Amino acid sequence: MRRTKSITLLLLTLILIWQSSPTPSFAVESRVDSSEMVKLRILETTDLHASLVNYDYYQTKVDNRIGLVKTSTLIKQARKEVENSLLFDNGDHLKGNPLGEYLVRVRGLHKGKIHPVYRAFNYLHYDAITIGNHEFNYGLSFIKEALKGLKMPYVNANVYSLKKEKPLFKPYVILNREVLDEKGEFHPIKIGVIGFMPTQIMKWDKANLEGKVMAKPIVETAKELVPQMKAEGADIIIALAHTGISDEPYHPDTENAIYYLTKIPGIDAILAGHSHGIFPGPAYSYLPHTNIETGKINGKPVVMAGAFGNRLGIIDLKIKKIAGRWMVLQSSSTTRAIADENGNSLVKADKALFKRIKKDHEETVQFIKKLGL
Ligand SMILES: [Zn+2]
Repeated sequence: MRRTKSITLLLLTLILIWQSSPTPSFAVESRVDSSEMVKLRILETTDLHASLVNYDYYQTKVDNRIGLVKTSTLIKQARKEVENSLLFDNGDHLKGNPLGEYLVRVRGLHKGKIHPVYRAFNYLHYDAITIGNHEFNYGLSFIKEALKGLKMPYVNANVYSLKKEKPLFKPYVILNREVLDEKGEFHPIKIGVIGFMPTQIMKWDKANLEGKVMAKPIVETAKELVPQMKAEGADIIIALAHTGISDEPYHPDTENAIYYLTKIPGIDAILAGHSHGIFPGPAYSYLPHTNIETGKINGKPVVMAGAFGNRLGIIDLKIKKIAGRWMVLQSSSTTRAIADENGNSLVKADKALFKRIKKDHEETVQFIKKLGL
């Protein structure tokens, strides 16, 4: 009797506790599921080609149509407009102008010194970067040494070391972040970031790469690794795809593979580059299944932010956790320019960034003037 009574009492107490508890355990999941929408902004720079300053080294004069010091102002503005943002660079950032050449071929990148492009990336707190084909132009040991100066992860999935029989770089990372929903609640989220570049590097940089690395097809590599990233817990996957947008028929060595990457399930947003184009933009209206208003190809958000820092790429995602999984419910992409079509400046230069790279810039200008170029 006593035993039954105490069991009844215990049950009653448990029921009371359960009813009065504001978050009974079974309801926790559904409470998370009914969370508010989260706006997540993805920012892209691409094909900077060492254009840090708004300056034309060939004509030794200011050029307000280029320069990360200008894009930086756009980055800061775009970040301020939202609660949640991520910043990535899509490669081809070290080579392509006299500053890049001077640093490597004249002054040299000394051990322990940080390349000014990477100093700029550190200052702007990029979340991750990928490297482009031009990063191999100065040889493998140069790029490996330069990357040591970065304070954020760098990824590339389709270049393999022949000696080590594994990817030359980290193929992808899964970033642990917290996002703020529209009601002001934080949620943990895992952002998968993977990088690619054209397999043509084996031709373009034969002298530097032959016998040392091999390049695997972009699309096949993505098909293999995206499910692996999902299995490792990536909620959202962003491709840093240093490859352009084209309607060329698919083949494994497609140089501009964005169109085919958009068809791979699991990839949520694609940052394009390499061909210096602007997407969304009228140049791509000929592509099938492409919306140049919302910036989607085959329903996937894509952005390509020109080159030399002339534009900032923006993908805005609206995501929500449904049945325990983060889903992209809406997306749009756009680019913002640092100057109008006549070259008139639309934004001021970021003085704090300029201060950090001023010495390298001035040395380059002095060197050019001394040569009488
Ligand atoms: Zn490129």
